[in-house]
Amino acid sequence: MIAFHVETNNDSIQHHCGVVGIHTREVSNIPAQLFYSLFSLQHRGQESAGIAYRKPEKLVTYKDLGMVSTVLSHYLGEEHSAHCGIGHVRYSTHGGNRLENVQPIVISCNKGEVALAHNGTISNSQKIKESLFEDGSIFQSTTDTELILHLIARSRKEDFNEALDETLLQLEGAFSLVMIHDDSLLAIRDPWGFRPLFMGKKEGLVAFASETCALDILQIKDYRSVEPGEIIQINKQGITSRRFAPKQSISQCIFELIYFARPDSRVYDESVHIARKRMGAFLAEIDTVEADIVVPVPDSGNIAAMGFAEASGIPLEQGLTRNHFIGRSFILPTTAQREFAVRIKLNPVKEAIKGKRIILIDDSLVRGTTSKILVKLLREAGAKEIHLRLCSPELKWPCFFGIDIPTREELISNTMNPEELAQFIGADSVMFLPLKGLSSCVSTPENFCTACFNGIYPIPVEGK
Ligand code: SF4
Repeated sequence: MIAFHVETNNDSIQHHCGVVGIHTREVSNIPAQLFYSLFSLQHRGQESAGIAYRKPEKLVTYKDLGMVSTVLSHYLGEEHSAHCGIGHVRYSTHGGNRLENVQPIVISCNKGEVALAHNGTISNSQKIKESLFEDGSIFQSTTDTELILHLIARSRKEDFNEALDETLLQLEGAFSLVMIHDDSLLAIRDPWGFRPLFMGKKEGLVAFASETCALDILQIKDYRSVEPGEIIQINKQGITSRRFAPKQSISQCIFELIYFARPDSRVYDESVHIARKRMGAFLAEIDTVEADIVVPVPDSGNIAAMGFAEASGIPLEQGLTRNHFIGRSFILPTTAQREFAVRIKLNPVKEAIKGKRIILIDDSLVRGTTSKILVKLLREAGAKEIHLRLCSPELKWPCFFGIDIPTREELISNTMNPEELAQFIGADSVMFLPLKGLSSCVSTPENFCTACFNGIYPIPVEGK
């Protein structure tokens, strides 16, 4: 299959990574099960996919650049018996989109064979890398994930678990990890809980995944979050859980709920669907503009638009159709090309929007270039008024915890207020969900990171 992808010069926050891990009591076709759960996480990373699984005699890995269906579909027609395996889909927030950066990373070292897949970003990676480099380490990739394996291998602790604990205590930032060591499957979440990670169980099978939609496909109903600072280990002897770090203040990424996660997932202890509906409803409650229809920018605006429409009584209309058959990305250098790219991806439904005053619901505003093109397309299609409503506060700070948010200079909300923004993109008005409104949409707002809105980083970061 040839995958085709259009990008408007990354004028959106890019998805990061997704991880899965599966262990079965009896040997089973682990690669096929990894395929289905990774396929459910495809939205979290479309640049590469890979799996590693433990056969009795060796650790096998298969990975490549491309989508899950391209890289791994041959496993559906083959039988590969194994006890455990891990998988990864990737968007390159750290290190480029190169084959050597594709995960899982598999190594053989003085602690045995280890396979590792990582979701997140190690925020003190530069410091760790410099120190390892000075000590003579040789790196095969440009990812921060590889550093974890170096630290384990170089630890003076002979026992793997002791070396692992020592390593994890040196890391700062976001790391939801799945790992194979010998015949054990391990799942680890950083002490701040930046990225989600779930453990699910059914008869004879334990699985880990970034989102619950990847457990649903395995027909797992019994699940819980891997706790921040927890290591869960599974092997033939059973399941053990331990903490590797004292409790920190929890800093879950609120953007998982705004944009990244699938609406049928739970992340942390929140339903993505319900949180997004609340965001739309809150926007409706503070909005005084009169309008004829509420139109989502699909897919990320869909659920919030439902919430807005229900709360306001303004009818919901699918005024934009999205082409879903879009794959890998390339950068488009000219405005005309970028406009064409938006046209390929999103096409206005003229009959739905002609002559209408539109509330246009999107998740967030990064550089504003896509919104500008979208507003132009809607005007051409006959929209009378366009009022852009965003389900997040103004993005003003970069992220150091696994999300690709541009520099402060590139974030348009640092240079324009909502009135200026409306003028820039050609809308009649622009309104953001205030931070207090966003906080009211989750059940434990004190447990969320909101640094990209207010610059209050939960831990010190390199290069702020
Ligand atoms: S800075 Fe923003 S994107 Fe990054 S973890 Fe915090 S809330 Fe998420």
